[in-house]
Amino acid sequence: MIEISSVTAFMIYLCLTLGPLLGLWLAQHYSRRHKKMNIDEHQLYICEYCQFCYLDDRVQGITRCPQCLSYNKKEK
Ligand SMILES: [Zn+2]
Repeated sequence: MIEISSVTAFMIYLCLTLGPLLGLWLAQHYSRRHKKMNIDEHQLYICEYCQFCYLDDRVQGITRCPQCLSYNKKEK
């Protein structure tokens, strides 16, 4: 049988418990980094019905409010 000290056993326990947590944190950190919204391609709109502010494409003539789901005309 392999004999280890209590300090070594505690260090192995810490590595086995904190290693997966560090891996999950790194995976989430790098996945969120790629999901950043590019604000240059979007424009800020205010819903005519519920006054909710949201970002949408500049190309579309009609936008849809994500909160009340009503359609809004693009103002010029
Ligand atoms: Zn709305």
